[in-house]
Amino acid sequence: MTSREKKLNKKADKWQTELAQSITSVHELEKKICLSETEKTNIELITKIFKIRITPFYLSLMDKNNPDCPIRKQAIPSLEELDFKMEELEDPLGDDRYSPVPRLTHRYPDRVLIFPTYECATYCRHCFRRRIVGRNDQEMTKEEMKCILTYIQNHNEINEVILTGGDPLLLKDEVLKELLLKIRSIHHVRILRIHTRLFVTLPHRITHELKSILKKAKPLYIVIHVNHFNEISAQFRRAVRGIAEAGIPILSQSVLLKGINDDVQSLRKLFSGLIEASVKPYYLHYCDLARGISHFRTPIQKGSELLKQLRGSVSGLCIPYYMVESVGGHGKVPVLYNCFKVNPQLCWGTHRV
Ligand SMILES: *Cc1c(COP(=O)(O)O)cnc(C)c1O
Ligand code: SF4
Repeated sequence: MTSREKKLNKKADKWQTELAQSITSVHELEKKICLSETEKTNIELITKIFKIRITPFYLSLMDKNNPDCPIRKQAIPSLEELDFKMEELEDPLGDDRYSPVPRLTHRYPDRVLIFPTYECATYCRHCFRRRIVGRNDQEMTKEEMKCILTYIQNHNEINEVILTGGDPLLLKDEVLKELLLKIRSIHHVRILRIHTRLFVTLPHRITHELKSILKKAKPLYIVIHVNHFNEISAQFRRAVRGIAEAGIPILSQSVLLKGINDDVQSLRKLFSGLIEASVKPYYLHYCDLARGISHFRTPIQKGSELLKQLRGSVSGLCIPYYMVESVGGHGKVPVLYNCFKVNPQLCWGTHRV
């Protein structure tokens, strides 16, 4: 190994060290931020049901003395997570209903989602897949990978494969490489896509080696989950730059979250910040009807109203589509502000929130 290679390798390991140093219990957390006795008891209670994990990097973005910090609210549990609402569902997106083989969802004819892992570097308190993310730690087995590939191979209507999860970039380089290249070798698959949050929570993951793996899988799109301007760190920008230089387009998806980004000023900063970082805002999602996240949910109309206010005062590049997931896994519906009408059949439940 040359010394340059050694140096690169060392850097490559850094993300795993960082991940291993993540906070996963209230005892570790109380050493880092101020918590009252009640908070500690509550967090302990919740983490028995929904795991906690925060990378040191994501923690460093947090204003530790401010309970309203948008980063803190996304990563530190609150008791409201145990307050399940009537309209909330175990599987609001119908991931399981449309799953012909384990770890694959085929809901739209031309696209499939695959879930190579259900692990994330930091668990979002608003996670829409919380029924499984952070609960099932098992990575995809060789057998499961084989079944997924056979399914895709046998369905030539599939032209796009989306790696999601969990965070697919938590896979080890060799596994990710094998998976991407095997999918790439299926003739009718034209486009690959990766949904990730690591640019925000673990930007060290975007290594030289990773870039070269992703380059081989082109045409490939990356969609980053990012919800607040404070998540666009210098490290985020650097990671994006590296990927963009590899000729891989980068988009973002955000979730509209009460008290975090549900005002014009926050969204303007977020979306223009993303555009400046060369990331195109793709979707703004209405907070899904997953269990225990009603404290993050806004009324449906809020999203379209906010985008209406943004339109005209920022570049059109900054404006994503506002998407509402129809209950029962019938798909995403774009909600437009100038022809806004909720079909109660499609989006029931939400007007009661
Ligand atoms: C969101 C989603 C997709 C991707 O949808 P796009 O509109 O193409 O981004 C694909 N499959 C399922 C099941 C989804 O939920
Ligand atoms: S990154 Fe996505 S899958 Fe992971 S915890 Fe957050 S919302 Fe859930």
